[in-house]
Amino acid sequence: MKQNSGIQFIHHGAREGVTGSCHELLLPSGKALLVDIGLFQGAETSGLPSNSKGSDKGADANNQAIEFPVDHVEALVITHCHIDHVGRLPWLIIAGFRKPIYCTKATAHLLPMVIEDALKIGLTRDKNLIAAVLNLLERLMVPVAYDEVFHIPALGVSGRFKQAGHILGSAFVEIDVPANHVRHAMHDVPEIPNIRVVFSGDLGCKNSPLLPDPAPLSRADYLILESTYGDKNHENRNERQQRLRKVIEHCVTDGGAVLIPAFSIGRTQELLYELEDIIHNFAGGHEVWRNMVVIVDSPMAAQFTGKYRQLKRLWDREATRRLQQNRHPLNFKRLHTVDSHADHTRIVNYLRHTGDPCIVIAASGMCTGGRMVNYLKALLPDPRTDVLFVGYQAIGTPGRDIQRYGPTGGYVDLDGERVWIKAQVHTLGGYSAHADQKELMEFVATAEHLGQVRLVHGDAPAKEALAKKLRERFDCEVVIP
Ligand SMILES: [Zn+2]
Ligand SMILES: [Zn+2]
Repeated sequence: MKQNSGIQFIHHGAREGVTGSCHELLLPSGKALLVDIGLFQGAETSGLPSNSKGSDKGADANNQAIEFPVDHVEALVITHCHIDHVGRLPWLIIAGFRKPIYCTKATAHLLPMVIEDALKIGLTRDKNLIAAVLNLLERLMVPVAYDEVFHIPALGVSGRFKQAGHILGSAFVEIDVPANHVRHAMHDVPEIPNIRVVFSGDLGCKNSPLLPDPAPLSRADYLILESTYGDKNHENRNERQQRLRKVIEHCVTDGGAVLIPAFSIGRTQELLYELEDIIHNFAGGHEVWRNMVVIVDSPMAAQFTGKYRQLKRLWDREATRRLQQNRHPLNFKRLHTVDSHADHTRIVNYLRHTGDPCIVIAASGMCTGGRMVNYLKALLPDPRTDVLFVGYQAIGTPGRDIQRYGPTGGYVDLDGERVWIKAQVHTLGGYSAHADQKELMEFVATAEHLGQVRLVHGDAPAKEALAKKLRERFDCEVVIP
């Protein structure tokens, strides 16, 4: 019956891997809704969509141009403002897209900064062009509160954002397509008033610092589900702060920097939140922490941390309590932010020569660019350095190579330069901003009714493992597009 609804899905990204998220909901009317418009990273490529299966284009990850028709796209929905979900938005706008862009209010706060950065990194430094794109973006954005129903008149559908607990402002989105918009087969089922399509976006873990837990699903005739950790369960998150503390204490016994590559939005603030807590609890007692300096070297991360502080009404209860105790989880005394490029260069050189112990958090999270790359080039050959991975490293990214070849004394290519790795490499589990297999299963289990599940945003083994689990446990169709 579902197959007869006439609703089609075209996955323009995050179909074969985890990046480039972009899903098209094509209605029988021939009009469509896009959900996310992310950047491809690492070795991942776009699929050239000719049907719901798509096919391989083998496009270069640097080629982010929109290569599918968008004339029939009447609206864009953004689940959250990570670059792999919004990074191709400037290309879309430059290509002439002038339709409403629905997102949560917090995402609307954060999105212009992300887009400005995406423009500067990937497209242009032309101030007028950047201003023009940002201006258009402000005009097109329709900020909506969580749980509030919004209507998309041009499509005749309505939507609702629900808390996804992944980063500030993140949501999964329910799209309700009225039954009279779908093919005749559905009319035989009078008790179904509409077809509900749910796009999970990225789902967070329970008990993430600062963030509320993901909301439950209600009904999903179609669920487009992320599967980043479809084949893994995270280490116990309750102990992760202790493990972070132990790893750092161990790392700095021989001096040297602890480099933590992290996305500017989300993970950086989570780390700061936990580092503040460790320093708060141990500064008096443990020598390592008494003088520990934490450097956030990223203007973006600093800006976002500022926004996170402004949006504290969206924080969870524990974080609010710390504020009431006069603590400053995202703005503590030993935290230094680096803004100018000159200061950045100076710090890199200083650390290269002194090997002073400190913690450096910088983007990008997968070492594909950003200031982290300069730290790595300068400090990977130094055995006193420790690199601490706390996030997912996609195939083909320098991060993945360091993770893989670092422990055996291999090398990584950074900016076309071969850098030998003498540094210690650690991967700290339990820090993911993504639900693990168990949590994905729990999320799906919150649905009262489930039709078809389409697995996206995961490597092949993750999708296959999750599909198997879902088929065993639920009476639903599972599709790997
Ligand atoms: Zn994300
Ligand atoms: Zn994502």
